Amino acid sequence: MDAYAVIGNPVSHSLSPFIHQAFAKQTGQNLTYELIEAPLDGFKDCLSSFINKGGKGCNITLPFKEEALQVADQCAARAEIAGAVNTIKVQNNNQLLGDNTDGIGLIRDLKKNHHYEIKNKKILILGAGGAVKGILKPLLDEQPTLVVIANRSFDKAVNLVEKFHDYGNISPCHLFSIENMPYDLIINGTSLGHQGKLPALQNNLFGPNSWFYDLTYGKSAQLFREWALSQGAPKALDGIGMLVEQAAESFYLWRGVRPETKEIREKLSQGSI
Ligand code: NDP
Repeated sequence: MDAYAVIGNPVSHSLSPFIHQAFAKQTGQNLTYELIEAPLDGFKDCLSSFINKGGKGCNITLPFKEEALQVADQCAARAEIAGAVNTIKVQNNNQLLGDNTDGIGLIRDLKKNHHYEIKNKKILILGAGGAVKGILKPLLDEQPTLVVIANRSFDKAVNLVEKFHDYGNISPCHLFSIENMPYDLIINGTSLGHQGKLPALQNNLFGPNSWFYDLTYGKSAQLFREWALSQGAPKALDGIGMLVEQAAESFYLWRGVRPETKEIREKLSQGSI
């Protein structure tokens, strides 16, 4: 059987084995998918050992996505631009192709699963960490009117804007001084949910039709979603759809078969896995 894995640290909480095993069952693909916790200073050795044992591909999660970009022999443009690799495919002669499917995962979730049109929308993104870096180019490719990046550490928002300004209308601000305007879509890309906290958002930043999307998923996103709904938001999503869609894109890259995502998204959203 072809072997796949997710490599991270910590990684025991990862839902990727459930998702990929469900995809394999659904599409009749014969494969294994395991969790590998690499030592913080041992990512490269861990990856080599998996590949030498015949591994065909892997997902890379925190904190190794940037290191994986350096290790890959060749990278897809979307990984180069994001500065991070979340998927490795082992090619002929063990040449490693690095890709990043996080951004397309978010776009597919918004557009395909929730029928949300990003074009001509004003988007506010809270946070400027690795996840935000991964979604920026695919978001800007959808031609929103404006993307504002608000971050606690202002310099990180400025750095992202410098990196991505060629791809669309994008500007930085501090998390606590966001320019008043109703944004159409507010994406929470901070890790505040894991700390049981909410970003402080003034009510002049959204209107009755604004959507809210937390990249965090499950219980950690509950506070943000409940708060958004209490403000009258018509839609408050968490990142489970993005997670499943990025996995589907990785699976497609490895196996050439695109799995259906609806059933697994529903199961994960209901907490039944
Ligand atoms: P990073 O650690 O790279 O970035 C964290 C971000 O949160 C930074 O912008 C940081 O601001 C901000 N932040 C953290 N604590 C606070 C605080 N107390 N007050 C204000 N801002 C704060 O994390 P990632 O970008 O990798 O992940 C962000 C979220 O996205 C996580 O919850 C993660 O689980 C989720 N995620 C979801 C995915 C999916 O498929 N759905 C994929 C990847 C990530 P500062 O720069 O000032 O420190």
